[in-house]
Amino acid sequence: MVQINGDRLIATLREVAQFGAYKTGVHRPTFSSQDMDARAWLIQRMEQAGLSASIDGVANVIGRSSNNGPVLLVGSHSESQNYAGWLDGILGVIYGLELAQSIHEQGLPFAVDVGAWSDEECHYLQFLGSRSFCDDLADHEIDVARNKDTREPLRDALRRVGLEGRPRELIDPSRYVGYLEAHIEQGDYLDSHDLKAGIVTSIVGLWQYRITVKGQQNHAGATRMVARKDAGVALMRLFAMIEERFPQIAGERSVWTVGKIELDPGAPSIIPGGAEMLFQFRDESLVQLERFERELVGLIEKLNAAGPCEYELHIVDKAVPKVMDPSLQNHLEAAAERFAPGKAVRMPSGAMHDAQIFAKRLSASMLFVPSIGGISHHWTENTSDDDIILGGRIFASAAGSILKEAAV
Ligand SMILES: [Zn+2]
Repeated sequence: MVQINGDRLIATLREVAQFGAYKTGVHRPTFSSQDMDARAWLIQRMEQAGLSASIDGVANVIGRSSNNGPVLLVGSHSESQNYAGWLDGILGVIYGLELAQSIHEQGLPFAVDVGAWSDEECHYLQFLGSRSFCDDLADHEIDVARNKDTREPLRDALRRVGLEGRPRELIDPSRYVGYLEAHIEQGDYLDSHDLKAGIVTSIVGLWQYRITVKGQQNHAGATRMVARKDAGVALMRLFAMIEERFPQIAGERSVWTVGKIELDPGAPSIIPGGAEMLFQFRDESLVQLERFERELVGLIEKLNAAGPCEYELHIVDKAVPKVMDPSLQNHLEAAAERFAPGKAVRMPSGAMHDAQIFAKRLSASMLFVPSIGGISHHWTENTSDDDIILGGRIFASAAGSILKEAAV
């Protein structure tokens, strides 16, 4: 079995947290200087761990093992959200690094490749790195992507950091027995139930819509209430109906969110002639997602029939749930049982992860470690050192048993 060095694991995580350190977290957006410095540091550390490491045309850092036998691919993302936590993403990369380092030092006959996939956090293009590596990304998508905050074109960013013209590396699925990713839970389920490990069963489907309402723009003082076609009121009416109906038909872990509302023109003394909201729901069951969509369509039909405003539903995205590989889940669960008996649970992931991209090409699975208070995408995000080390031991043990089984 692989014995990882817990103290070194924590020290390495603290070291990489210096790139873009912000309060107790990090600010390491994709293609910032601190992000690129962290990637250069990673290449060096991978080389020290006996891997042959390089950066590709979209800033994926990939360290390859030269050991014989079946190869396990592990990884996650190394950039962060703005002013966010020190573990989101990089934890999974450093678990991989520590695993590779331990295999190297102990001379074990295991082969593990480690990847740091770029821009999972969607500063430019969500899952840029994992989609590129999995051959699931057209050049055209890179041509049109821009930074969400600065509007910098992705092509300009790649030129700025010196990656222009460098080839994008592609996965060779025949090389791998599977893909394993560790991540902080980012919710409070493990923490609030005193659990130490989450074995991810699936990554939930996420369906997103843009809902527009057309009314009549008019004077807020002179237009009588009965004569109004207030698009803002109409949009709120739909929102209230969703809040009433969805809880009645929801699954145990269903969630839904209005992330943005805009009124047109959005002025104090003008009745809005237009209104728009971005609406999404998530669930691990396709049947549940379809149920929500039917309900939403039905509500909008009802409101359109009643008037006086016109509603339109535009589909933004319908990402289906990604099921994690049952055999890899069993390895993770057995490893968790070894190190933390009775403290593991199988659970879906409500958040998106690179593993869902890899699941299209390889058997894939994920391990969650507890997030204190469920806080994430904020600089106060944290996990205790003990839980980080325990998670690392479970991850390494599962990786070892997966490779051992594949070698037979
Ligand atoms: Zn993440």
